[in-house]
Amino acid sequence: MSGILVVSSVVGGLFLLLLVLERRRPLRSGLHSVIPEVLLNLLFSALAFATAAGVVRPAVTTSIHWAAREGFGLVHLVPLPAPLRGALAFLCMDLTFYYWHRLNHQVPVLWRFHNVHHVDPALGVSTSFRFHFGEVALSALFRIAQVTAIGVGFRTYAIYELAFQANTLFHHSNVRLPIRLERLLNRVLVTPRMHGIHHSQVREEDLSNYSVVVPWWDRLHRTLRLNVPQSRIAIGIPAYSQPEDNRFWQLFWMPFRKQRDYWLRPGGGAVERDPAQRGPDPTRLEE
Ligand SMILES: [Zn+2]
Repeated sequence: MSGILVVSSVVGGLFLLLLVLERRRPLRSGLHSVIPEVLLNLLFSALAFATAAGVVRPAVTTSIHWAAREGFGLVHLVPLPAPLRGALAFLCMDLTFYYWHRLNHQVPVLWRFHNVHHVDPALGVSTSFRFHFGEVALSALFRIAQVTAIGVGFRTYAIYELAFQANTLFHHSNVRLPIRLERLLNRVLVTPRMHGIHHSQVREEDLSNYSVVVPWWDRLHRTLRLNVPQSRIAIGIPAYSQPEDNRFWQLFWMPFRKQRDYWLRPGGGAVERDPAQRGPDPTRLEE
């Protein structure tokens, strides 16, 4: 079976499994939208998929070929056994995605597009692919630089891609895992509670937990924030929190329109966190 077929089957199966589980054991309650939300997200994701297939994939494939032919990239600087080189490339891929995600929040033109992903008030597995096609197209430039600078090989790239897609589904899902199990998993993976805090309407919480597969990069860069209980999180972007902000054409045109003051509610006032609601240790996941 070709690599892309393996990735699609695993990702498709996991998507369905998480979709069922999040209805049986939801992590955050109060989400009324079920089928319409999933349909909207799938429809919107179709544009992102088309851009990924038509723009990102050819660009990445050409770059990997070129780097392999020239022996170009970080992982070729020191001679290493192949498994070690693969592991190093995997970690470099994940670390650079951390930086890219962080840039998407901090550079205004990138945030215009990434905001569309964060506007979803019903964070769940179907949010995983709901990226604006403009964000996906812009990411092609980053991905060319990323795979070339690292010098990642095709096999490691395919393994990373699978881990990236699978964990993106997992950490966006609204599945309630037993807290002890999630704390254990969170030592090596970004988990739903951790990423849920990243989708909070409180600005400092949105500006934390950028990691994608392994959670260590947030710890390393002091952007880790795990001590917010999920029951206290309002999901979304305050200025875009009305139901009409979450419709197909509204989302389509959102990055190209005059931007609102993201962190102010329509009636004015920012969403703030009462410090008493937080747990004492930012590195310990709360219920
Ligand atoms: Zn984000």
